[in-house]
Amino acid sequence: MYLVELNDLTPRVVVARDREFFNVNAAGVALEKFIVVVDSFLFPIHSRQLREYVETKFNLPIKYVFLTHSDGDHVFGVDSFNGADIIASQYFGPKVKEFLLGKWSKKEFDAWKESEPEHADVIDEIIIHTPTIEFEKECFISDGSSKLELYHSGGHTSCSSWAYFPKDKVVFTGDDLASYDWPYISDFTGNPDNWISTFEHIMALDVDFIVPGHGVVVDKSHLKEHLDFIVTLRSLVKDAISEGKGKDNLDLPEFYPPAAEWQLERAFTHLFAFYSGR
Ligand SMILES: [Zn+2]
Repeated sequence: MYLVELNDLTPRVVVARDREFFNVNAAGVALEKFIVVVDSFLFPIHSRQLREYVETKFNLPIKYVFLTHSDGDHVFGVDSFNGADIIASQYFGPKVKEFLLGKWSKKEFDAWKESEPEHADVIDEIIIHTPTIEFEKECFISDGSSKLELYHSGGHTSCSSWAYFPKDKVVFTGDDLASYDWPYISDFTGNPDNWISTFEHIMALDVDFIVPGHGVVVDKSHLKEHLDFIVTLRSLVKDAISEGKGKDNLDLPEFYPPAAEWQLERAFTHLFAFYSGR
């Protein structure tokens, strides 16, 4: 239980997947003198496995943890990388501070433990940290000949960001992409226009591997399917708004199924509000 799957994706990139909890991905990227971790997991017990694996494999310290966005399944395990600087977009910290007063408060965590007593011990290990380094549009981490490029997206959530490791041609999308899933257009702070321009940016890069926030590693052809789908959704919603139609009469194209039915309801509530300027 709580075992993550560890895969050497390229000579300098390790991807870890938590098959038990939402197929979340986290990764370790070895630059010349240190490692940058991309995302943590739901629990510190998961993140510790990634830490031990990459520190041993590369014989380097973890200097930075880049958090792609403020969803708990990518953030709650971050304490396992204690000692490393936490990097995120400038929109990340304020969200976390707000969550700590609401859905991440002690009261809510106590309720979580009560509803899932089998996980109480690992929930108790969660210590949430705010970023020590924030960036607005982009942030390049480099040492010698290696570089990891971080970019703000604002697609899936207002704080969503992604990373590009040119040396091994790998992109890490956070939850802008969940491979073989209906896109998680579930956060009302997200911006579909930014989402589309993020994917267009990635499509223009030299990329062999795309590590999504959830699901198996894919290539640009799969990202293009998602890009085309979101562009189609945008047109459908804009046309429906201009014709005075509601969200129940859309002629949706075939796509990968949503993880839950509520995703569609929420996505269209968000898209209609966004493009109606509400
Ligand atoms: Zn997620």
